[in-house]
Amino acid sequence: MKPMIKDGVSVLYRKTDEGYEVNFLIESSSVIVPFSIDESALSCIKLLNGVHSIESIATIVGISAEAVLSLTEMLQSNGLLQTFSTVGNNYVGSRFETQVNFLAGFQTHPSDDFQNRISNSKVTIIGLGGIGSWVAYGLVLAGVRKLTLVDTDVVELSNLNRQCLYDPQSVGQPKVEVMSAKLCAFEPELVTTNIQCLVDTSETCAQVSTDSDLVICCADEPGTDEVNRLVSETCFSQKLPHILCGGYDGHLGFIGPTIVPGASGCWFCYEQTLEHQLLAAGYHHLQITPTQIKGGNLGSISAIIANYHVTEALKVLSGFAKPTLLNQVAEMDFLTYTIHMRQYHKRSECCICNS
Ligand SMILES: [Zn+2]
Repeated sequence: MKPMIKDGVSVLYRKTDEGYEVNFLIESSSVIVPFSIDESALSCIKLLNGVHSIESIATIVGISAEAVLSLTEMLQSNGLLQTFSTVGNNYVGSRFETQVNFLAGFQTHPSDDFQNRISNSKVTIIGLGGIGSWVAYGLVLAGVRKLTLVDTDVVELSNLNRQCLYDPQSVGQPKVEVMSAKLCAFEPELVTTNIQCLVDTSETCAQVSTDSDLVICCADEPGTDEVNRLVSETCFSQKLPHILCGGYDGHLGFIGPTIVPGASGCWFCYEQTLEHQLLAAGYHHLQITPTQIKGGNLGSISAIIANYHVTEALKVLSGFAKPTLLNQVAEMDFLTYTIHMRQYHKRSECCICNS
């Protein structure tokens, strides 16, 4: 074993009357772990770089191997040692080298092989438009190799300002086929199931989410709220984690929620909480007949909103961090770049959560 201080941990020290005070700053969580140690322990820490064995550190510093082992065990129990070697592992020089190094900063146990979990996941993406196309691309970039792609539409010229991977030659072709071909050209090991349909019944939703580890709903047909309701109800009954992508409306982008049955409230809980907040403030919905005019949007905003959802999906799939959007929806204002978190909780009267 050649112990090594974890990537993403900074070490600060200062001399005290008793010896040395060492502060380990874990950059991924901003947690500071302090220790009071003597000079020989400080010398050992300087050698924890993945090059020296316990025995060689003991020889260099002039203390027993037991003392070095005891020090490394203390650091290990505080999550400060690299438990996965980024030196000489299979990912060096691969597409995933820097991603694996990033994920290693979150490991607390050798079995935390986050990249492996991502690569072995199967994800269903419902809707391959302004959000879903970027989500599909982002997941494949991150290493997901099994996707179920669901969309009823063909590529239109007006999609091309914001929907990635489609091009003018794709116009008129089914989105699921074009997306699959583009992604498989990038990642030959990718396996996709392409389903050209509208998800408007619980039977269809159950069918497209079969065997998936995660369902991401990026659809806006037959309506964003309607399809979110349907997906949440169906996935909840299957105890299947799902992320509902709110999309964007004018200068606001809506991110989440992430719903993990048993760990969060469902979409109905969110809608009910929102409704109660509006009523408490004295507001009522005014129903306006929908027009055929397409909503306005920017491709840059689509990409930003979508990639928040990709990051959230990687948290769910790998467990490198707790999903941020459990029981909350983020509202991003693109005029000010501020994010407002709208929180909700599982409601005691919810028929979905309590079913
Ligand atoms: Zn609920």
